[in-house]
Amino acid sequence: MHEKTLAELALGLKMKEYSSEELTQAFLSRIGHLNPTLNAFITVTEDGALADARSADAVLAKGAGGPLTGVPIAQKDIFCTKGVRSSCGSRMLDNFISPYDATVVERLQQAGTVMLGKLNMDEFAMGSSNETSYYGPVKNPWDTGSVPGGSSGGSAAAVAARMVPGATGTDTGGSIRQPASFCGITGLKPTYGLVSRWGMIAFASSLDQAGPMAATAEDCALLLGAMAGFDPRDSTSLDRPVPDYSATLNDCLAGLRIGLPKEFFGDGLDPDIARLIHAAVDEYQKLGATVREISLPNMHLSGPAYYVVAPAECSSNLARLDGVRYGYRCQKPKDLKDLYMRSRGEGFGAEVKRRILIGTYALSAGYYDAYYLKAQKIRRLISEDFKRAFAEVDVIMGPTSPSVAFRFGEKSADPIAMYLSDIYTIAVNLAGLPGMSIPVGFSTNLPVGMQLIGNYFAEERLLNIAHRYQQVTDWHTRSPDL
Ligand code: GLN
Repeated sequence: MHEKTLAELALGLKMKEYSSEELTQAFLSRIGHLNPTLNAFITVTEDGALADARSADAVLAKGAGGPLTGVPIAQKDIFCTKGVRSSCGSRMLDNFISPYDATVVERLQQAGTVMLGKLNMDEFAMGSSNETSYYGPVKNPWDTGSVPGGSSGGSAAAVAARMVPGATGTDTGGSIRQPASFCGITGLKPTYGLVSRWGMIAFASSLDQAGPMAATAEDCALLLGAMAGFDPRDSTSLDRPVPDYSATLNDCLAGLRIGLPKEFFGDGLDPDIARLIHAAVDEYQKLGATVREISLPNMHLSGPAYYVVAPAECSSNLARLDGVRYGYRCQKPKDLKDLYMRSRGEGFGAEVKRRILIGTYALSAGYYDAYYLKAQKIRRLISEDFKRAFAEVDVIMGPTSPSVAFRFGEKSADPIAMYLSDIYTIAVNLAGLPGMSIPVGFSTNLPVGMQLIGNYFAEERLLNIAHRYQQVTDWHTRSPDL
């Protein structure tokens, strides 16, 4: 049962091949079996899941329900879930039981999905390897000596190991696409503003965006349809109708114009990955697409700009975690200052502290113009690069990450080396564009992902482009032998 896609499972439920309760039990037992090794889940919500499954079965028995009714999913632990620990991978929120649900959680619940639990992640979504989680690293199911990517590494590993058929992730600089690539699954980061950020613990508010992670583009289309849409509680939420992402999956790709940015294929890219990307692009040519080289001349500035903007915004967002209102509080504080200093000192891990320090510095009087303002200007240049590119092409293709999953410890001592694993994904967040990663092969027995970047609100087209490829290839059907 666990090998089926979310779409297939939904069909089986409608055909009464099994009940949602049986399905939920099956996945819960797979989690029980695999989680001690993979560490993908921080919390398993067994009782809640079984209760939700029974309610879904009652709806299905009446012949009612939508395309996701009764299907198990799991939430990245960055989303607030009512009555359930919402840790964000941090000691700071280890004791935080959220009094409310995030909009994404609420919408997936309204769609009838069954939440199996909360997924492990880098602390406050800062990282590319899951090594910064307070709950210990997630293991890559293809090779437990390698990282699953980050920060949505728990989501990617859980889907890859078929512990759950679909999950949520969030992507500030690549955290859906890079782990999807490292674990051999499909992930979509939507256009900024498409999915509500309300109740999603903030890292860098102008970059953060939630999206679906699943084995296939077809499954991502189903999940995105439930997650997306206007939310008055998020001031950057866009008021646009949500299309039926499943309806256009089979559209023909004849005449599709693909752009390959020359900056994505330079030094630093593993040649084996370059070969697999070109092979996937050849597949698209067989489907009727045309290919041309393009240029994104300011690409090399995306890392430096991101590592000013993201820490600046995080230093402000994380100021609320002060040991007073909620979250971790140190023992026996001497006075208020000691309470702040020790609560934050003990509650946050090293990477989070590094970002807060960098961000506070960049925003401080006298440095604002030199760093934050400058980074915002670079951000505009990067958006304009994409704007020019999308005047000529419909989709941009390239690698998701310069390497396959690396070994634990390989990059954790060198922040710059770690930051480079998002070199191809970050610009997309700075511009607020949608991006996907789809599996296109293996190198040294580890999955390789290809990135698809679309214009604003091109999610339908991106999902269609990914789905057509998945109809003629089988990389997305591969799963590790567990
Ligand atoms: N790896 C990047 C970072 O550490 C991106 C993280 C993310 O997208 N949440 O900031």
